[in-house]
Amino acid sequence: MRPTGRLHLGHLVGALGNWVPLQGQYDCFYFVADWHALTSDYSDTTQLTSFAYENVADWIGAGLDPDASTFFVQSLVPEHAELYLLLSMVVPVPWLERVPTYKEQQENLKDKDLSSIGFLGYPLLQSADVTIYDANLVPVGEDQVAHLELAREVVRRFNNFFGNVLVEPQPLLTTFARLPGLDGDKKMSKSLGNTIHLADTADEVKKKVMQMYTDPKRVRADIPGTVEGNPVFVYHDAFNPDQAEVDDLKARYRAGKVGDVEVKTKLARALNAHLEPIRERRTAMLARPDQLKEIMVEGSRRARVKAQETMARVRDAMKIVYR
Ligand code: AMP
Repeated sequence: MRPTGRLHLGHLVGALGNWVPLQGQYDCFYFVADWHALTSDYSDTTQLTSFAYENVADWIGAGLDPDASTFFVQSLVPEHAELYLLLSMVVPVPWLERVPTYKEQQENLKDKDLSSIGFLGYPLLQSADVTIYDANLVPVGEDQVAHLELAREVVRRFNNFFGNVLVEPQPLLTTFARLPGLDGDKKMSKSLGNTIHLADTADEVKKKVMQMYTDPKRVRADIPGTVEGNPVFVYHDAFNPDQAEVDDLKARYRAGKVGDVEVKTKLARALNAHLEPIRERRTAMLARPDQLKEIMVEGSRRARVKAQETMARVRDAMKIVYR
């Protein structure tokens, strides 16, 4: 995860919610991709480390366990850069130019300078991030499948020259339910300012929910409303465990027998019940900055041991060894 901002409900649904159950099944590595944050935002790095600390506190809040998984910071394992450099020697530039997100993001993010070598190369850096741990599986949504396909092609090309050195990673497709924004936009996203942060207080959550976009055709409570695609109900489905309450609200909404205030008040209550334990754990973690830093440094030390083993193998295979 790139430390480019505070985490929001979209991250909880689309990433952390999928990561937590994997901890019991696999030997997981989760990392703060601080170098990747620079691929699109290199000029202002003032908040990079504070976002990194906050993001990790959010992971712990959401239930990731630094004893069960390895948490690390990319820049604390500089071997990632070495593998990226070596891979860059064998990978043709057009392979990176054809990655779908390359042109897409250049067209969509006009306010950013995406003409750098770093931005072109970021999917290759991802290939290094994954293969340096001999990762078999990478939990990703559909949007990242093309990047993993590139990683497999890169591994095949590298192994073709130097022997069976790197492992081809496979996607572990996560249910990438895209959470809409408070404003009804199809994606909750920092850049659209339509988010509820994991750090928001109960009052802030309530205030944001009460201002949420609903069915625009429903100007009065006695007009039948649409539930499908209505963000208030998408959130009820995602966060309200009281199925009977959600079904009752939907039925009355469709019949024009419930006001937005009741639907939203119940949503705010469900959301706060869901977020409260997360908030408590993240706040407790942030109150112990030394321990938080230790978790990140110690995890990075563990990750580095594995990364160094892989690099020794890579250097051997490439015959770049001086002894
Ligand atoms: P970002 O911070 O936008 O780079 O997102 C990092 C990851 O969080 C994405 O790859 C998704 O897995 C997840 N994510 C971000 N926003 C959303 C959203 N609105 N709905 C679902 N998942 C999301």
